[in-house]
Amino acid sequence: MDGTVAASVPRAVRTTCPYCGVGCGVLARPDGRGGAAIAGDPPHPANFGRLCSKGSALGETLGLETRLLHPMLGGSPVPWDLALDHVARRLDEIRSAHGPGSIAFYLSGQLLTEDYYVANKLAKGFIGTPHVDTNSRLCMASSVAGHRRAFGADVVPQSYDDLELADLVVLVGSNAAWCHPILYHRIQAARGERGMRVVNIDPRHTATSEGCDLHLAIVPGTDSILFNGLLVWLADRGLLDRNFLELHTNGFNDALAAARLTSPNIARVAESTGLGRASVELLYSWFSSTRRAVTCYSQGVNQSAQGTDKVNAIINCHLATGMIGKPGSGPLSFTGQPNAMGGREVGGLANMLAAHMGFSEIERERVARFWSAPNLVSGEGLKAVAMFDAIARGEIKALWVMGTNPAVSMPRADAVRAALTKLELFVVSENVASNDTLNANAVRLPAAAWGEKDGTVTNSERRISRQRSFLTLPGDAKPDWWIMVEVAKRLGFGNAFAYASPAQIFDEHARLSGFENAAGGQSPERAFDISGFAGLAPVAYDSLDPTQWPYRADKEPTERLFGSGGFFTTDRRARLIPVSEPRLASPVSTAWPFILNTGRVRDQWHTMTRTGLSARLSTHIAEPFVEIHPADASRMGLEQGTIAAVETEHGVARLRVLLNRGQSRGSLFAPIHWSAENSAAARVSALVHGVADPISGQPEAKATPARIEAVAASTYGLIVSRAAIRPANAIFWASSPTMLGAVPGHLLYFAFNLPHRDVLAWQRETLPAGEWVTLEDAKVGTFRTAVFKDGRLDAVMYAAASPRLPRTDWLRSQFGEAQQSGAARRGLLAGRPTAGGKDEGPIVCVCYQVGSLTIEAAARDGCTTTKAIGVKLGAGTNCGSCLPEISRLLAGKSAKPAVAT
Ligand code: SF4
Repeated sequence: MDGTVAASVPRAVRTTCPYCGVGCGVLARPDGRGGAAIAGDPPHPANFGRLCSKGSALGETLGLETRLLHPMLGGSPVPWDLALDHVARRLDEIRSAHGPGSIAFYLSGQLLTEDYYVANKLAKGFIGTPHVDTNSRLCMASSVAGHRRAFGADVVPQSYDDLELADLVVLVGSNAAWCHPILYHRIQAARGERGMRVVNIDPRHTATSEGCDLHLAIVPGTDSILFNGLLVWLADRGLLDRNFLELHTNGFNDALAAARLTSPNIARVAESTGLGRASVELLYSWFSSTRRAVTCYSQGVNQSAQGTDKVNAIINCHLATGMIGKPGSGPLSFTGQPNAMGGREVGGLANMLAAHMGFSEIERERVARFWSAPNLVSGEGLKAVAMFDAIARGEIKALWVMGTNPAVSMPRADAVRAALTKLELFVVSENVASNDTLNANAVRLPAAAWGEKDGTVTNSERRISRQRSFLTLPGDAKPDWWIMVEVAKRLGFGNAFAYASPAQIFDEHARLSGFENAAGGQSPERAFDISGFAGLAPVAYDSLDPTQWPYRADKEPTERLFGSGGFFTTDRRARLIPVSEPRLASPVSTAWPFILNTGRVRDQWHTMTRTGLSARLSTHIAEPFVEIHPADASRMGLEQGTIAAVETEHGVARLRVLLNRGQSRGSLFAPIHWSAENSAAARVSALVHGVADPISGQPEAKATPARIEAVAASTYGLIVSRAAIRPANAIFWASSPTMLGAVPGHLLYFAFNLPHRDVLAWQRETLPAGEWVTLEDAKVGTFRTAVFKDGRLDAVMYAAASPRLPRTDWLRSQFGEAQQSGAARRGLLAGRPTAGGKDEGPIVCVCYQVGSLTIEAAARDGCTTTKAIGVKLGAGTNCGSCLPEISRLLAGKSAKPAVAT
């Protein structure tokens, strides 16, 4: 080996992906210019070196163009001291005038555990407000509540390894292929190797359904009827684990009696769930014929007004069969966010105090003593939906938002955005300079971003991993914990917040978890115990390996819990919970005949403030859309690619229509990612009614009554340009980054409804100045304009009466040319590649930018398996996120389930 070359390669830093709750290990190799090469971390037990498309593109999201780099007060940059003094003084004034309950904190599953710990301690122990909630409320609160009801503590009993050891994996309300791709890949790999069965329970046919042995397109909201039916089936056939039930549980008889009411037999289950009897029976027979079944559930279960009951209906079946906490056997909640679990551990939710402790007198006294807290809260605070309602009513007057974008992500997001304008003090710790949440009144505090911050996160299998910094802090940006410590000092609490590093905070967090816990404690043992990390030296903290909790110095780390009982209730027995008939929070009606389901797309994360920066990720899906079954579309006069207004009692969005036979009749699906930053009217969470589960407080996001109608449009089009463009007077637009050859650019889709005479004026207002070459065919309503500057293509627009638009891959490649030839200019305006140009078709594999046409051509050449496609084209061989779509193409279907079939 050439030692000189090896020595010049920068050191790779082990860290953790900041997106979903899989918590994949990442190797980041900084390039010395503010960027980094990204790869999967081979030994990390979550992903063993593999990353999905989002994780693979992390290096493309590290730029500073959109960053908030300085504290801002009244819209102007100010020194840190001024901003911190202002925040502390106003918090103090508002607390004195209106009491501590007039102050709220809204946190995020993006925060590190150390940040979460300081926020929770400052609010609940020192400022004295219980109103601390988090965007994790929108993600997994129903799983938390279900765990606490069944197990006595918020514990995920299983590990990811169980997915590979199972004979049956049941995915409920989970599009894991797009939302937890690495776990989906692990399931599919095991399915290929061991022949395990995979069942997908979801009203929609998604990419996940493609890789399953059985897809159950259940009527929305009826999951608990299906699992209640399973409990009855097991009981009636003598297939229960009587020994486990007797030794380790309570409540079976009541749970079974309730199940018999909703689901007395297969016929009734089939009728209520809309499933075929044979399908229901097949699921039940598969579940009952194995001792190794893992049931994974995600937002389709959690984001429901009956989410907690759904979770318990699933857990009941595992408890009744003793299939819990054993290799390949148990319930496993897939968490949406990277550190939702860490937030649960510190107590950063309104209905928790700290470290898995609640608000009993003994717990409050213990925490007050440990923190030396002068103002410990007396009980629960307001959960997210109620918190923003209280802001709207003027009861909460000061709000500190950290690392989240509630004006986009909260249900009734338009009302939330309006409520934020009423605050007397609105503080936002943020990475980005602009988003829908930041309004003119906001005190903006520049927070460290991924790659700069340093601390720990916990993934869905209770595994704590380090998120390490590998970039220097840009501008004035600071870690979240530092910002809060400085405010705490100014409020007079400096002694209790004398942290100089995240290692010190983690040490205190670990000590609290073990404080009066287990043997010698005055109340039942607490599940969350990482006291084995107490006193960790900074160097040991820095080199911490991914570790599952509980982690006590006197015990071996535990991969699975509850295999032999030992639940965290007072009698150490689990509880089976009676689950009654579920009802949608708001049924459909004549006025609102559709059910609106919301969710995510494969290559975007939350409100796109990070993934939206990657041109590569935007090549998969670049526009907000609504999926509808072709029969419903026909009934409503909607055609593929046209624009529809989707409306609920709370808002309206204008979205591209995609016909999809995988969409259940009577239901609509729209993704949540787009905001006012990148679209005209696609803030989909603004439509969501947000009726909360009465136990978990998690809002319903999967079943809002809605209506849909066509929006009249005279013209549909796209613009590819070097500079970002916001079109004038458009009924629909969506903007995304793109690559123009080797340089960054922008892609804009739009639609407008204007008389022909106004179109030229529209172009003049929208397109950049320069040398315009225009082709117009008024008879068929097409307008094509290329704009050149100094002979180089600067922008190109296609507009037509039809929503069928040309591919953009070839168009984008034309921006690399120094000068456009006459033939190329004709090709541009003709809307098709000139001879020699290559049309890839819609991009399927974002890692290698391989399009559907190329894959179909390879299939015609004899590549009939995903493996063969990988060998020939590379597609699917990096992150693997596109494998379900390649499979669809090989099966002769279109790549994206979202596209008409
Ligand atoms: Fe990140 Fe993808 Fe892993 Fe989730 S599955 S943690 S998004 S790399």
